[in-house]
Amino acid sequence: MQLRLSAEDLAFRDEVRAFIAKALPDDLRDKVLIEQRLGRADLARWHRILDDQGWAAPAWPVEWGGTGWSGLRLNIFREEIAAAFAPEPLVQNINLAGPLIANFGNDAQKAFFLPATRRLDIWFSQGFSEPGAGSDLASMRTRARLEGDHYTVDGQKIWSTDAHISDWMFCLVRTSQEDRPHKGLTFLLIDMKTPGITVRPIPTIDGDHYLNEVFFDAVKVPAANLLGEEGRGWEYARSLLVHERIGIARTGQTRRRLVRARHLAEQIEAQGDAMAARDFRLRIAALEVELRALEMTALRAIQADGAAGPDPSVLKLKGTELQQASTELLVELGGPAAMVRQTAWLLGEREHSLTPVDTAAATATYFQLRAASIYGGSNEIQRNILARKLLAN
Ligand SMILES: Cc1cc2nc3c(=O)[nH]c(=O)nc-3n(C[C@H](O)[C@H](O)[C@H](O)COP(=O)(O)OP(=O)(O)OC[C@H]3O[C@@H](n4cnc5c(N)ncnc54)[C@H](O)[C@@H]3O)c2cc1C
Repeated sequence: MQLRLSAEDLAFRDEVRAFIAKALPDDLRDKVLIEQRLGRADLARWHRILDDQGWAAPAWPVEWGGTGWSGLRLNIFREEIAAAFAPEPLVQNINLAGPLIANFGNDAQKAFFLPATRRLDIWFSQGFSEPGAGSDLASMRTRARLEGDHYTVDGQKIWSTDAHISDWMFCLVRTSQEDRPHKGLTFLLIDMKTPGITVRPIPTIDGDHYLNEVFFDAVKVPAANLLGEEGRGWEYARSLLVHERIGIARTGQTRRRLVRARHLAEQIEAQGDAMAARDFRLRIAALEVELRALEMTALRAIQADGAAGPDPSVLKLKGTELQQASTELLVELGGPAAMVRQTAWLLGEREHSLTPVDTAAATATYFQLRAASIYGGSNEIQRNILARKLLAN
């Protein structure tokens, strides 16, 4: 495995770095710095800036706005976005709906959805989980019956991120009961304004609203919104879950948290508490070692380029454990300041902020990332997958 970047890849990294430094609006960077969730207008602004540069959906097929970059360059791009405190492009659109439609959609669907998905003119939500069907996704029961030129959908989804603000949902439905459970699943693209859809909020422990329940009551979905072939939804979904697991590792974001932790440890030392600072530094160093190992594992996965490499489950499992460990550390380092949201920054009065920006909303982020070991396939399920693979050899 190659660990040093070639001169060409270093030049590429510098080009990305320089572009972000020039193109990223200060107000967007500030919101990411203070861990403020970006609203639609803000995130769409960033998507369009990236898209004008040709970089909004770098991993997509070139004809639909992809860049043709190698896996290594895609990784460099993601790491630079995180290091610069630039917003992460919308995962449902760029990592999930886009690849799904580009790979399995028909020409009309690609032309309608892909450019708008890239530029965030359309906001997607993901409709997989149901009450009683999360880890065991194949037992989902939301039914779709073909009736002439449309499907009629009845059932319920849960934990649907951003469903309340989304325009469309890529939704797994059951179109057949006869086959084995995972055989009867189908993807429909559902317009969230269709009559019969009800979205109810699920408030989260971090004090935010992004999760929802979605109810379908005799919802009519045009048959033209079938994605790919009926009954192949499981196969399509599996291809997506691999992308989702690689994306969820978010090593760049953990790295920038550890940089913040170092700043805070320096401040504790400057205030005269050398013992506490030393203790924190040891913990930061231990996490840095684990993170470096994970970054190298991710590089191996990228350079294997489809050939046998580390399993995406390893990246998901270890990546989310490090996200949780690094946020826990920031909460401890910040103390009471970690409870604070930096509203002074939002009001344009950052000089009146009473707490260091490195502690920004650390407690809320800590709470939010409790969910990281659940979404995208829980960590227990990842352990099962790895155990099965290891025991099979
Ligand atoms: C913040 C957040 C955002 C999400 N966003 C979306 C979204 O946008 N769209 C969407 O469709 N879903 C979304 N989800 C749902 C997510 O995919 C599921 O929560 C997840 O798959 C787990 O399913 P479950 O909640 O039904 O838990 P269950 O499957 O009921 O699991 C409960 C517990 O049992 C454990 N468990 C289950 N089966 C096994 C087993 N065989 N062996 C060992 N342990 C097991 C699990 O690890 C877990 O700890 C989101 C979830 C969260 C928390």
